[in-house]
Amino acid sequence: MRVAEPTAQSVAEAARLLRDGQLVAFPTETVYGLGGDATNDRAVAAIFEAKGRPQFNPLISHVLDATEAQKFVCWTPTAEKLAARFWPGPLTLVLPRSPGSPISLLATAGLDTVAIRAPSHPVAQALIRAAGRPIAAPSANRSGAVSPTRAEHVAESLGERVPLILDGGPCLVGVESTVLDLTGTTPTLLRPGGATREAIEAVVGPIAVSDALPSGDSARKSPGQLESHYAPARPVRLGAISVGADEGLLAFGPTVPQGAMLTYNLSPSGDLGEAAANLFAMMRTLDRPGIGRIAVMPIPETGLGLAINDRLRRAAADDGSRRGR
Ligand code: AMP
Ligand code: MG
Repeated sequence: MRVAEPTAQSVAEAARLLRDGQLVAFPTETVYGLGGDATNDRAVAAIFEAKGRPQFNPLISHVLDATEAQKFVCWTPTAEKLAARFWPGPLTLVLPRSPGSPISLLATAGLDTVAIRAPSHPVAQALIRAAGRPIAAPSANRSGAVSPTRAEHVAESLGERVPLILDGGPCLVGVESTVLDLTGTTPTLLRPGGATREAIEAVVGPIAVSDALPSGDSARKSPGQLESHYAPARPVRLGAISVGADEGLLAFGPTVPQGAMLTYNLSPSGDLGEAAANLFAMMRTLDRPGIGRIAVMPIPETGLGLAINDRLRRAAADDGSRRGR
């Protein structure tokens, strides 16, 4: 791991790493981000692996400006007004994924929506511009640790898990971005942050506050509870070592039971990073008419396997939210 002053050279090197699917920690005005190419499933899997989080939560994709954002999400007049007032800055907008959007499904934890923001920190902007692609970035710390506002915090928390840290000095805002959901009829506050409710309402009128948003600071303790999650319409059977003819099989590893209607292998070599990268896209592909049930082979409970199994267990348990897809 190397800590570098942000120069034209180090930013160019960071951009090369990102395009190559590697991770770079960089300053934003809120906190330091652990960045990876938002269009690369493997890079996004590497973010979750480095953070050691036992769950997949949707990540924010960072772009230069509103024009860029429109390549990845369905833009709206409300988004336009908010971006004109708050971007670049600490406001994240949740919008529907645009048709053919290249944003990784793992970056959105399988959701049809994308959280997107244009940061104002000059080093973040330089890096996004040089990389020429959106950067997915949660806070640059191991799971459970506090968000880093200095390069030294990142180095202490992530160590060799990140090859390069751009040191932009202390972060100015120091709190996370406000997350505003624009997919419903009324804009809804999902997370309070650097852009205040009052300032947002001055632009778009009264907004709603998510029911899921607990008062007090319990929201910070359990960020994963805020978001809805992707669940297949079909039932999911875990720990499958054999398979029925009406089942679609989500396989893992080299030894795959035969006889499924359709089989996708998360990782024939048994690589958990590859499996994480493929998880949501393959679950979606198996969740199709004609398939009675999705059977999933056992996945080891180590490393990224924890987050993969968490998501699979939720999908298997989630009869209540089944939609006719
Ligand atoms: P962080 O990357 O740690 O700043 O956290 C990202 C925040 O944005 C979390 O609170 C997520 O729940 C929220 N978020 C990201 N993407 C979405 C989405 N598609 N829908 C709803 N909330 C989202
Ligand atoms: Mg964090």
